[in-house]
Amino acid sequence: MTTILVTGGAGYIGSHACKALKAAGYTPVTYDNLVTGWRDAVKFGPFEQGDLLDRARLDQVFATHKPAAVMHFAALSQVGEAMAEPGRYWRNNVEGSLTLIEAAVAAGCLDFVFSSTCATYGEHDNVVLDENTPQAPLNAYGASKRAIEDILRDFEAAHGLRHVIFRYFNVAGADPEAEVGEHHRPETHLVPLMLEAIDGQRDALTVFGTDYDTPDGTCIRDYVHVCDLVDAHVLGLGWLEQDKGSRVFNLGTGSGFSVREVIDHSRSVTNRDVPYVVGPRRGGDCTKLVSGSVRAEQELGWTPARSNLSTMIEDAWRWHRTGHYES
Ligand code: UDP
Repeated sequence: MTTILVTGGAGYIGSHACKALKAAGYTPVTYDNLVTGWRDAVKFGPFEQGDLLDRARLDQVFATHKPAAVMHFAALSQVGEAMAEPGRYWRNNVEGSLTLIEAAVAAGCLDFVFSSTCATYGEHDNVVLDENTPQAPLNAYGASKRAIEDILRDFEAAHGLRHVIFRYFNVAGADPEAEVGEHHRPETHLVPLMLEAIDGQRDALTVFGTDYDTPDGTCIRDYVHVCDLVDAHVLGLGWLEQDKGSRVFNLGTGSGFSVREVIDHSRSVTNRDVPYVVGPRRGGDCTKLVSGSVRAEQELGWTPARSNLSTMIEDAWRWHRTGHYES
């Protein structure tokens, strides 16, 4: 079986990727420092604890497992934190990824799938965001991801590192079998915070700003189901295996929903009230981030079948009620 090194395999998206990889016949080896990930989320293949900045440990893991490709999810990924602590973001995300990329090249592992973000685009008023939209990130998180994209291009030119870059829009939902799910400490994402408020685990959700230039004043995002998102990664591996060349793909559905619309859907899916209060804007948030691209559908044959709000919230709600990690 072909082995894939999955950095961040103990995290939200990485753990779902490991499940999808195993189902597709690969052996996913998780490499994770467990700073934000969960040992309990590593269920689908071997686990190697280590940090992206630890080159010796990376060399050892490449030598032991001889992966055919890397799927690189490990990153700090919170906009608020990135605004407050940009140094941590540059060091962990950029220096960490550079260390990983150098280790991969040294080991002769030249297929690389990278999780980037729509936060690399920044604010573009009423412009459809496709893969050719100029990147002008508003925060250190988006900037760090854009820098890694540049590193991948340079390493392709110099060392033949073939790569697929996925720019995610807003990832939500959970494994419908609730084997893995979203679990951040502290939680900062809209859907899980809302479910905690619905369930009485927090007093209320705070809506970050109702004075944006959108129909209801709240920010608009393009939500993608985590299972659809990781399916695209498996297709991306196939793309590299078929030697189709390096490529960037947006992963979004093209439909935007406001924070208020997400609240309304959650009310109808859970049949419960959503306690919320209105607060000020959160620094670094863009008004609207919606993908205007069908490249992944047309070229990769990707079908985001579960990416409607009701299914995403239903799956997240199931995980919220039945799944959890102890450590
Ligand atoms: N949001 C909110 N309250 C929260 C968390 C998020 O109003 O407690 C809003 C946030 O301003 C953004 C959207 O929900 O417009 C999605 O935010 P999230 O942090 O989930 O993802 P991001 O867009 O930062 O990747």
